[in-house]
Amino acid sequence: MTRFARILCAIYGATTIFLAWATVQSGTANSVWTALLFAAASIVPIIAWLRETEFSESKAATRANVERATRVRESAERRAIREAADALQHVCCERWWTSLGTDHAPTCAKQRRAA
Ligand SMILES: [Zn+2]
Repeated sequence: MTRFARILCAIYGATTIFLAWATVQSGTANSVWTALLFAAASIVPIIAWLRETEFSESKAATRANVERATRVRESAERRAIREAADALQHVCCERWWTSLGTDHAPTCAKQRRAA
């Protein structure tokens, strides 16, 4: 949860406490409708607090998914680079590469060995 979200949750909590206090004060003053309105209004900051918590949890889950996808992608790239490097280890000269491995350049060490 970010600092801003924690501040918002603290504000929501303070508002709920204030509205609960106002509900009690209205109830003791025999103002039933006002007490009911304050009680109903005190639910709104609780809903906002729950939504803020849910949002920060979904944000954390999204961040974890992105990190996991990045690790998988980097692993796949590393594997592809390793396979390409393994394939290129057998390349000795350009002619061998362009002739699909059937001939070597005159200066190639493998050409001298074969000759
Ligand atoms: Zn060669």
